[in-house]
Amino acid sequence: MTTLQTEIAKRRTFGIISHPDAGKTTLTEKLLLFGGAIQKAGTVKRNKDEKTATSDFMEIEKQRGISVATSVMGFEYKDVKINILDTPGHKDFAEDTYRTLTAVDSVILVVDCVKGVEEQTKKLMQVCRMRHTPVIIFVNKMDREGKDPFDLLEELEKELNISTRPLSWPIGIGHSFKGVYQLNNKVLNLFSANKKKISDDTITISDLADPKVDQLVGDLLAAKLRDDVELIEAVAEPFDRSLYLAGYLAPVFFGSAINNFGVQELLETFTQIAPHPQGRETDTRKVESDESKFTGFVFKIHANLDPNHRDRIAFCRICSGTFKRNTFYHHNRLNKKLKFASPTSFMADNKSLVEEAFPGDVIGLYDSGNFKIGDTLTEGESLQFVGIPSFSPEIFRELENNDPFKTKQLEKGIHQLSDEGVAQLFIQNPGNRKIIGTVGELQFEVIQFRLLNEYGAACSFRHMNITKAKWISAISEEELKKFILRHGQKIAYDKESKPVFLAASAWDIEYATKQYPEVSFHDTSEWR
Ligand code: GDP
Repeated sequence: MTTLQTEIAKRRTFGIISHPDAGKTTLTEKLLLFGGAIQKAGTVKRNKDEKTATSDFMEIEKQRGISVATSVMGFEYKDVKINILDTPGHKDFAEDTYRTLTAVDSVILVVDCVKGVEEQTKKLMQVCRMRHTPVIIFVNKMDREGKDPFDLLEELEKELNISTRPLSWPIGIGHSFKGVYQLNNKVLNLFSANKKKISDDTITISDLADPKVDQLVGDLLAAKLRDDVELIEAVAEPFDRSLYLAGYLAPVFFGSAINNFGVQELLETFTQIAPHPQGRETDTRKVESDESKFTGFVFKIHANLDPNHRDRIAFCRICSGTFKRNTFYHHNRLNKKLKFASPTSFMADNKSLVEEAFPGDVIGLYDSGNFKIGDTLTEGESLQFVGIPSFSPEIFRELENNDPFKTKQLEKGIHQLSDEGVAQLFIQNPGNRKIIGTVGELQFEVIQFRLLNEYGAACSFRHMNITKAKWISAISEEELKKFILRHGQKIAYDKESKPVFLAASAWDIEYATKQYPEVSFHDTSEWR
């Protein structure tokens, strides 16, 4: 194996996703704890607790007590380099999560055993299915009186449209929770509520009929465990890794993140079965991760980490080859050579300078305005990574300038925030009217706050009678022009100057689709 292949083989880059409050932050922290990346719990940002927040650099996060940003955390576990991309759970920042999912190779989905599948769980899984991302499910909070595990599995399969295969099985639940039985290696992990301890009491049993099981968990639960396991083994196929890798089958673990329970098994299995960095599609060809030449793309831009500097940080996922510091790379959209003197890697809550980075790694590039989401870097080849679409927003408002003396600042600020993907900006001409599209109300608050704090520009938003934006294309340039001319008032342009049809209702779109069969209407900015 070449050095590059060895580096690829030892990497796993994944995202943790969940509906808010299911325990994503807690699990992330515990994975870092088990991985030895942090020494004590409470080091990772906690969404609702300001005191322990370490990565809440945006005021708005603190004020609202929500996590807006995606963080990157790397650590090594038994020679495997693990990169976790944390994502905001709040639905108003779902676009950020969707984009982050383009930069991972697999996902761990956290589900609360009391609440089961929730609204955001479903939406996030849709994105995973679209991309065939392999998913492991962690059923959390088993120390609470939750749903019956068989019912939960059924719910997961039905609501998330994926096959499941339990790899561990709970013994009791809530007050009577005694632990889990690992189905693959016949190990009993005994539960004790303990937030400090990081190893479980494990007992290997060669046969479930062993009377030791009754002594350890009680006759009733032992009998139930035997019945449950018999049933699972009778109906469930053995775990098939290839189905998991293809995104059709989700292995399921049960545990309690806050009590450090079930986390070790999850981490062990994850490092064994999760995919190493995979190839990715571009507009010209598929780039394989073990190609010698460097390629990467920007999936997230963060502004003003330090409010005293205007620097932004672009998060770049390395797709192939070796990235090297102080080397010129080709910025495909700008057709420009760029080099980076201080690229950063993220280990737990520390940042450090990187000399080299490999496929699967995420590096931070300091940027003074060269990057937009989706931008591609190569060693010279002209190609653009695809699959990082903009999704049609759900709420539209016109941006109004409240301070004519700050027009320039507002103009600059809103374009930069749109490049960062904070919201989508559509321009309507004549008049340079700015229409902001978001998926949630909170995004407007973030924009208003940041424009004022970072650019000194005061703004407000005016309600608009728009409920949907559809990107449009037509069988010919001429037909497209004709449609645009006829619908001038309902046409705006996105940041790439692609035309968008702004519709007041679903009926509007239906009508236009019927009237103009030569025009196509798209839900995302990327279509083929
Ligand atoms: P996130 O919003 O998905 O990141 O969720 P958090 O990790 O912030 O957890 C939400 C709440 O659930 C917090 O109060 C946690 O302490 C709590 N929690 C997390 N894991 C467990 C668990 O295993 N059992 C119980 N009882 N509570 C938990």
